[in-house]
Amino acid sequence: MFRGIAAYFGLAVGDALGATVEFMTPAEIRHEYGTHQHMVGGGWLKLKPGEITDDTEMSLALGDAILSAGKVEPVSVAEAFSDWMRGKPKDIGNTVRRGIVQFRRTGQTEMPVSEHDAGNGACMRCLPVALATLNSPWENVQTASRLQAHTTHNNPVSDAGTECIIQMVQAALRGKPLAELELFAYQLVQVYPVFEYRQRRRDNPSGYIVDTLQAVFQALFSTASFEAALVEVVNRGGDADTTGAILGMVAGACYGQDSIPPRWLQRLDPTIRSRCTEQARALYQLAQQGHSP
Ligand code: MG
Ligand code: MG
Repeated sequence: MFRGIAAYFGLAVGDALGATVEFMTPAEIRHEYGTHQHMVGGGWLKLKPGEITDDTEMSLALGDAILSAGKVEPVSVAEAFSDWMRGKPKDIGNTVRRGIVQFRRTGQTEMPVSEHDAGNGACMRCLPVALATLNSPWENVQTASRLQAHTTHNNPVSDAGTECIIQMVQAALRGKPLAELELFAYQLVQVYPVFEYRQRRRDNPSGYIVDTLQAVFQALFSTASFEAALVEVVNRGGDADTTGAILGMVAGACYGQDSIPPRWLQRLDPTIRSRCTEQARALYQLAQQGHSP
């Protein structure tokens, strides 16, 4: 069975579960929830139970843009992000806002390279690229990833982390087991040692791509189910909706749809659920034609 839908559900469920405890510390979470594992909404954004945030919204906007252009085309992508911002989202990252404002002012779809733009905002929305380029040579995957990423985040560490997550999702969609996905994390650490995640526990991860992926890798590779991995990562707090979203897409692709607890899936807005399903299917179709940027 095609696991792209499971990856989308994982992303949305991870976003919604994590958002409740975003910006809390693990101690604050323990005090308030014991172990946070139910879709109760709330959090600093005062969400409804199961409500998703910018992580899922931007992914869906990107996916729609890819589908309407038939490829990752940066003007369509930037326009989709700009339309999304016009809808006054509950949450939007600073780097994302800056990129969209630049596009509106200048029409430019590539931010200048910046050492400060190593946030996780490009990575959290990379799933549609992973699906659309599933059958493309790595060179094309990488080009497509950077075209979407650089509309807001132009930073080599962000690029490397985002591309690592795309590799994991694609390998999982091809049926590779968890242990093989970790090889991509090892490769990332080899090229960018700053990502080393095997030495010190990463609690309270910030929105810095390195902190975020350290928490994701630790949770993902120390557990053996979708549920255990997601509970593990969101209870670390910090940027929990985004660690949840990123872990959720990889774990969804790896463990499949049946592994996602129905009590979480059923809490998602039915409209979001069907958008995820339709977009995953349509991107899969696009991938069959071979994506060239
Ligand atoms: Mg968010
Ligand atoms: Mg976040």
